Amino acid sequence: MSTLRFQALKEASNRKPVHFEEIDRKSSLFGSNVFNEKAMKQYLTSDAFKGVRDAIQHGTKIDRKMADYIAMGMKEWALAKGVTHYTHWFQPLTGTTAEKHDAFFETSYDGSDPVEKFGGAQLVQQEPDASSFPNGGIRNTFEARGYTAWDPTSPAFIYGTTLCIPTVFIAYTGEALDNKIPLLRALSAIDEAATEVCKYFDKNVKKVTATLGWEQEYFLIDKALANSRPDLMMTGRTLLGHTSAKGQQLDDHYFGSIPTRALTYMRDLEQECMLLGIPVKTRHNEVAPNQFELAPIFEETNLAVDHNSLLMDVMQRVAERHDFKVLFHEKPFKGVNGSGKHNNWSLATDTGVNLLSPSKTPMSNLQFLTFFINTIKAVNDNETLLRASIATASNDHRLGANEAPPAIMSVFIGAQLTKVLSELESVTTGKLSPEEKTDLKLNVVGKIPDVLLDNTDRNRTSPFAFTGNKWEFRAVGSNSNCSNAMTTLNAIVAKQLIDFKNEVEGLIENKDMKKDDAIFNVLREYIKQSKKILFEGDGYSEAWEKEAAKRGLSNFKTTPEAIKAKVSKQALSLFEELGIFNHVEAEARYEIELEEYTKKIQIEGRVLGDIARNHVIPTAIRYQNTLIENVKGLKEIFGKEFETIAKEQIVLIKEISGHIEGINSKVLAMTNERKKANQLTDAQKMAEAYCNNVKPYFDEIRNHCDKLELLVDDESWTLTKYRELLFTK
Ligand code: ADP
Ligand code: MG
Repeated sequence: MSTLRFQALKEASNRKPVHFEEIDRKSSLFGSNVFNEKAMKQYLTSDAFKGVRDAIQHGTKIDRKMADYIAMGMKEWALAKGVTHYTHWFQPLTGTTAEKHDAFFETSYDGSDPVEKFGGAQLVQQEPDASSFPNGGIRNTFEARGYTAWDPTSPAFIYGTTLCIPTVFIAYTGEALDNKIPLLRALSAIDEAATEVCKYFDKNVKKVTATLGWEQEYFLIDKALANSRPDLMMTGRTLLGHTSAKGQQLDDHYFGSIPTRALTYMRDLEQECMLLGIPVKTRHNEVAPNQFELAPIFEETNLAVDHNSLLMDVMQRVAERHDFKVLFHEKPFKGVNGSGKHNNWSLATDTGVNLLSPSKTPMSNLQFLTFFINTIKAVNDNETLLRASIATASNDHRLGANEAPPAIMSVFIGAQLTKVLSELESVTTGKLSPEEKTDLKLNVVGKIPDVLLDNTDRNRTSPFAFTGNKWEFRAVGSNSNCSNAMTTLNAIVAKQLIDFKNEVEGLIENKDMKKDDAIFNVLREYIKQSKKILFEGDGYSEAWEKEAAKRGLSNFKTTPEAIKAKVSKQALSLFEELGIFNHVEAEARYEIELEEYTKKIQIEGRVLGDIARNHVIPTAIRYQNTLIENVKGLKEIFGKEFETIAKEQIVLIKEISGHIEGINSKVLAMTNERKKANQLTDAQKMAEAYCNNVKPYFDEIRNHCDKLELLVDDESWTLTKYRELLFTK
């Protein structure tokens, strides 16, 4: 009997929910491990407190002396909570988070004067000696000249016994080496652009904040079972495994009662999140067995992105206590749904208005329509860039796989708003008559809130859908850091709002139009120009693929094709104009993503080849030998008659040989393609070679392995099976 699989099964089936101390009133815990306003008021002088607040609200600089005071307060707060170390917490281009812990503890060189120390210098800057992070050639590795710098807009927090200080990661030459800097730049661009546009409607608006509420999907698999699968351990997904007879076809998991062990895990996790100030709110089962979702209350985007990164880390750590492994991969199992990360996005003013929420007065609804239509136009004009922002090797499995948004970007707005747009489309060119304006205000713009209230139509197949008071970008990968998607979305909308403002101003100045007339005129043209991106039908259908191609929309099914858009002329100039990326930064990121793609496929290829040859084939041969023994025995007993009696066994022996041959020849061919691909020097070409020449073997090899899984005696099969991974609760 194969030991690891059966040991793991035994372990997994004996598990009991793990006990933890649960505190009733979650609100009393919220943010207690965060250096938030409450903690700052207690531990900082009023000057220092004001310094941090101004930095958060207005981006004012904090000088060294002030930093010393802040650091002192932060240290006292942390020490009072039993903290021993601090770290600059940052998001390098690997997409995950990084940290290097330093103790507060210091002594003089002769061992005297032991003391806990943490000054402004340590708060503001650290050199992580991070020469091994991807940098796309920006930073020569031998120089290793990058440093982390404090981002006061995201509060410091305590995890375990470490004080974590959110930071940006930057090269000494000034280029961004992380995901946070471009995000902060994009958020500042949209703030500026949106505030300018808001002034048409309300002069009091001083700041616009982009908000993000992500929904995180994941699988929860028993730790022992996950560890028994080398493919899950190395690549985060199963590279082979025959689908289970029962999958999700009965829909009996979706929104069903949450299994006890999983629920206990979630409660523990939520408590940790409360301490860290992550406002988690919703939990439920998802469609696939052992698949779940968690969603917080939305927040300012930079904070929400940090919270999502932190959450993914915390989820894995809490899972360990509960003997689970969390799978964030977009497609861990063939044949059942994969996971995504819906990014709900909106814009909020400092006067308390959600710019994407229709309201009661025609004027504020014109404001709503302005932001609504500008977003549609932004997506229309930059659909390839938006697609590129979510392109990863693992998300390729999901986009276009008929369960998640297709790889074609389109916008869903619902029947009611479609009607509003079509009415706005017929607005007179030039100045509007008073009657037309009254009619528009009363019957089109003024009616929006009523119609939206009954708008229950929801299209689950759209990658970018309007859901009443926010946009929902559904195509983001569950394993991705949200910053890539959010930087791009905020950037393209910022650029669009700048253009809008210029066009409106142009009409006011050159055509002597009133502000309203000018706005209606520009919006009308935008509606006409954005037709191709609007789609209300079934995004999974073949008809849509054809229609989208006719409309000239892109349909990039693989990452190497999709990410070229990141360095298109249009993208480079957009990013440059907004100060988000210069050429060097944009091109470096593109290279890094190509390399990451190549490496991911390379690793998968190696792991698959290894498992197929070292697990599957030996198991198949052992079983085949049993069959051969059996046939030999039958021949001994029955003589000539054995041919009829052993007929099925002989067929099986041949079939097994066929699959073994299949595996061997395909693994060999795949390895040869890898070798060829590795000779290429151009990153784009190499990624393409991996995508087009190496990856296609995965399915073929898997197919042979999965067939063998059905033939071979269950007792001797070494790899934990789908039904065991997916249905052990
Ligand atoms: P769904 O029907 O998709 O589950 P919900 O209304 O429950 O939609 O919201 C899903 C997510 O959208 C939540 O994370 C929520 O915080 C977020 N959300 C709601 N309003 C906004 C907003 N104005 N900006 C950003 N995110 C929002
Ligand atoms: Mg949703």
